[in-house]
Amino acid sequence: MEKLLNYINGKLVEPTSGDYFENMEPATGKAYSLIPDSDQRDVNAAVEAAKRAFKVWSKMSVEARSNILLRVAQLIGENLDELAAAESRDNGKPYKLAHTVDIPRAQANFHFYGTGILHFASESHAMGDVAINYTLREPIGVAGCISPWNLPLYLFSWKIAPALAAGNTVVAKPSEVTPYTAYLLSKICIEAGMPAGVLNIVHGLGPKAGAAIIEHDDVPMISFTGGTATGEWIARTAAPKFKKLSLELGGKNPNIIFANCDFEDMMKTTLRSSFANQGQICLCGSRILVERSLYEKFKTEFVARVKAMKVGNPKEDVNLGAVVSKPHMEKVLSYVELAKQEGGTVLCGGKKAEMTGEFAEGYYLEPTVIEGLSHTCRTNQEEIFGPVVTIQPFDTEEEALMMANSTKYGLASTVWTSDLKRAHRVARELHTGIVWINCWLLRDLRTPFGGVKSSGVGREGGFEALQFFTEPKNVCVKY
Ligand code: NAD
Repeated sequence: MEKLLNYINGKLVEPTSGDYFENMEPATGKAYSLIPDSDQRDVNAAVEAAKRAFKVWSKMSVEARSNILLRVAQLIGENLDELAAAESRDNGKPYKLAHTVDIPRAQANFHFYGTGILHFASESHAMGDVAINYTLREPIGVAGCISPWNLPLYLFSWKIAPALAAGNTVVAKPSEVTPYTAYLLSKICIEAGMPAGVLNIVHGLGPKAGAAIIEHDDVPMISFTGGTATGEWIARTAAPKFKKLSLELGGKNPNIIFANCDFEDMMKTTLRSSFANQGQICLCGSRILVERSLYEKFKTEFVARVKAMKVGNPKEDVNLGAVVSKPHMEKVLSYVELAKQEGGTVLCGGKKAEMTGEFAEGYYLEPTVIEGLSHTCRTNQEEIFGPVVTIQPFDTEEEALMMANSTKYGLASTVWTSDLKRAHRVARELHTGIVWINCWLLRDLRTPFGGVKSSGVGREGGFEALQFFTEPKNVCVKY
């Protein structure tokens, strides 16, 4: 079986322990490659390499750094088909999705920050004829970047690209559930001529290799995307060391549908915002709140269209592929059982999608719609992160907002209405970092991205990320 390798100091290397664990293919439920079981020793070697490389990389001209990032972007584009196939195989997502969204976005991340750094300027503050202050935005050192399995290369590169563009060096760990495209990225970096030690990729388990990055004294900034429970541990561990933290965590996003919306547009988009990537996008709208006068029409049409969605072999033209792992599939199914215990009615789905032949052991779930639950029950409060949505009626705008804001999360929300005043009013009242009006997942990479409450701390995207990955220093010069 193919062995993946760590990428440390410019070379592809085995883990110090010599140990590996299996990488599963969600579509078939079979192991197909081996992942390095890295530990503190590998992380130490990666941090040492990154510290040495920082001395050179941080002093390079922005144009020189930009050129290398743009070369990485170009190579991702040239390898689109191979990367999309690898992402689909590793994660279970439809190849079509990886080919049109994940990999183009990974390419765009490197391109965006490879060019963005050329336009990143700092402020100056004049004090009349007395003095001038100017701000230096200096790279900090070794950045620790840790990402989840749902959008593997997309989110991995979303952290690495701005960290490198700003002049830092990086020690990064992709999710152990989906490490393959990060491994391919290390080969691309070698081909792109990235200097040794600038980017180091350590594979392995979160509590072992990941924790070693978080705890390392020479990693002063951490950009993490993943679950809220992991984020809490990271915040607790990093706080006494005063590390800079950017935490992008879980969500339980409301999708508020008013009766006067464009029904067809809303319906098509709500199918996507509910089930894209098997519902495994932190931004998916898992709580659908529908104005009562539209509720029955919405329910009938939505359930009919969900039943018509095709689940199957990710290589084919399907709406849903496999969910990422067996434990995750079981977790999602346990939430369907919980919903029933809490008094919910499963309108469609709710079980494994049965497959045959080589796919019989794959992790396929039917897209599921549940109604009849209170907004306070666990099913409506906890993140499920799979192809499961609940629908709930509301009578007034106030009630919709109360339900929308009633969870501990605050990542994203969606509002459907053709009433302009209402759209702006509701957007202001929603406790989320992102609000989409009459659309979903329409992304402009310049905008601030992140959540409030238990959905995270800090913002990524645009210049926000470049500010995070630099330390401002004020210089005051008396005339
Ligand atoms: P996870 O927290 O289990 O793992 C995320 C990453 O952290 C993995 O690389 C894992 O190995 C690592 N990790 C785990 N324990 C660690 C530790 N103690 N120290 C350091 N690293 C550790 O999350 P997941 O299951 O991979 O991803 C799903 C979660 O990610 C969901 O909650 C989802 O909402 C969230 N997510 C959030 C965003 C966002 O932008 N807010 C985007 C995508 C996913």
